[in-house]
Amino acid sequence: MDDIELLVDLHRSADRQGPGGDAETRRALELAGLDRSRRLKIADIGCGTGAASILLARELDAEVTAVDFLPAFLDTLRARAHEHGVAERITPLHASMEALPFAAGAFDVIWSEGAVYNMGFEAGISAWRQFLRPGGMLVVSEITWLGAQRPAEIQAHWASEYPQINVASAKIGILEQHGYSPRGYFVLPPHCWLENYYRPMQDRFDAFLARHGHGDQATAIVAAEQHEIRLYERYQDHYGYGVYVAQWPGVG
Ligand code: SAM
Repeated sequence: MDDIELLVDLHRSADRQGPGGDAETRRALELAGLDRSRRLKIADIGCGTGAASILLARELDAEVTAVDFLPAFLDTLRARAHEHGVAERITPLHASMEALPFAAGAFDVIWSEGAVYNMGFEAGISAWRQFLRPGGMLVVSEITWLGAQRPAEIQAHWASEYPQINVASAKIGILEQHGYSPRGYFVLPPHCWLENYYRPMQDRFDAFLARHGHGDQATAIVAAEQHEIRLYERYQDHYGYGVYVAQWPGVG
């Protein structure tokens, strides 16, 4: 198995593949102030196993197109959507976020939690805007510095992992430069990382290692995840996920 297959095996049974929470998804929904009087079309980009897609399909009168490039995650999403009684409202789509097969103006909402970093925030928000109808909403979470000063260790870590990490004012500026009208921003609280994402992952480590005979590759993956967790535990005051809500201009 290569590293991607091992990572899929570690994460495919999880409810989410990144920091987040149902209450925070609802908070972003409130900030978006959607017109709920009509059926909404929503694209959830980098949906993983469907944490946001399922909540949006359950709580809104919406058709959700759930996009991911890992078929195994979409399989889990399909099964979970059935369990929650929303399979008819969710269309799983195996596609790359960098080459989405959508028509211009097809969606009322583009939603993306913990995923835009894969193509980079600016590339993502500028490529996806064409798929929003006039007046449509973008809701996207992105790794963000929480202030201007930070310790050297965490600065060096993110400079190597994701050099586009920046403060919220810079991210909001990028949204404005690309024509969006920012409507809201908040930071995911630590429980979205620790209780909702990292602890359930740690609970899967033993079975994961056993499934893979405690091999070198699997052991290295667990060590890398543990390192990331330790960094967050130590430096959570300095970085987090910012949730950005922005409107594409016009009246739909
Ligand atoms: N949104 C989910 C959540 O919050 O639980 C998943 C977040 S996970 C950190 C990032 C997701 O983006 C993964 O499911 C991964 O497979 C997907 N992804 C990464 N690169 C992608 C690409 N180029 N196209 C589509 N999906 C991609």
